[in-house]
Amino acid sequence: MSNYCPEIYKGLFVDRWNDDHIKIAPCCQSVNAKTPTVDFNFKTNKHLQNLRKQFNQGKKPKECNRCWKDEDLGRISRRQRMIEFFDTDDTAIELGSLDHNATWACNSACIMCNPIDSSLWAVELKIKKEQLASIGRYHRADNTFLDKLDLSKLQKLHFKGCEPL
Ligand code: SF4
Ligand code: SF4
Repeated sequence: MSNYCPEIYKGLFVDRWNDDHIKIAPCCQSVNAKTPTVDFNFKTNKHLQNLRKQFNQGKKPKECNRCWKDEDLGRISRRQRMIEFFDTDDTAIELGSLDHNATWACNSACIMCNPIDSSLWAVELKIKKEQLASIGRYHRADNTFLDKLDLSKLQKLHFKGCEPL
């Protein structure tokens, strides 16, 4: 398949959305979708399955435009780097790569950042409860999505979370 990407079958980006949902995508560069945490399943999730189906049909879904654009411009895309990393054309669905948006808590408010990525920006801007909830950052309880994942075959882990990490 000329559009093959191992992340479509093996990759997961995940970030919490308030206390009961998560944002998910095959990788952090692909457009994400919100889904309830409680019944998340890496193999059967609708958004991930829809992308897998399109890739299986040889399509290039718009959610992955960053890769297609990079390749059109002659740059090496994440897709191409991941083909090299996994060294396979396997389409078995098995979690092998996790992009984990680990934390929102940040004690900096860098000029180019925003309240979605930095808790201090949310404080500086005096963002209210309703606005926080509208950007998925109203956190009052655990949102233990990692418990939903089989990590036994993981080959690559990418912690996102900027300076606090
Ligand atoms: S954005 Fe690129 S690397 Fe990520 S899943 Fe899509 S094609 Fe693969
Ligand atoms: S350290 Fe990172 S997360 Fe924190 S404000 Fe700066 S850019 Fe944003």
